[in-house]
Amino acid sequence: MTRRSLLKLFGLAPVAAFVGCAEAKDASTNNTAVVSKLSHADWEKLLPPESYRVLFEEATERAGTSPLNKEKREGVFVCAACYNPLFDSDKKFESGTGWPSFWKPRDAALGTKIDNTFFSTRTEYHCAHCGGHQGHVFDDGPAPTGLRYCNNGVALRFIPKGEALPALRG
Ligand SMILES: [Zn+2]
Repeated sequence: MTRRSLLKLFGLAPVAAFVGCAEAKDASTNNTAVVSKLSHADWEKLLPPESYRVLFEEATERAGTSPLNKEKREGVFVCAACYNPLFDSDKKFESGTGWPSFWKPRDAALGTKIDNTFFSTRTEYHCAHCGGHQGHVFDDGPAPTGLRYCNNGVALRFIPKGEALPALRG
């Protein structure tokens, strides 16, 4: 089964309709598809503490705190750790949750795992290159996918159109 069809499968599976991104500290990590060889200790040296905590300890940033909520320019949202391009700006929408939200990621950019913490079953997603936790995907998003990728802003970096994408790191 391809990652794409897995994503589709998870997207259509019944998931609890949480409004936002809840914290998921106890989820087991499945990094089998991760390309990066860097350890969590390596990433901790490279990243600001708030980004490290979300990306590699699965913390959740406080709703409404990310400047990326209001980012309306054309461009690309890359992983804040390894710079893997994850979302294009034309797939972003205003969800009202206080977290940057998208209805579709770039092809093969993300991996997913089932997260049974927080008294519910949710689908966690992470950067396919470095394994860094980005957020959770829900099935209450807009057309055409009906999906809502609820993303932590500190796990992303915005590259405006016209600016070169940074090279992958790690
Ligand atoms: Zn990454």
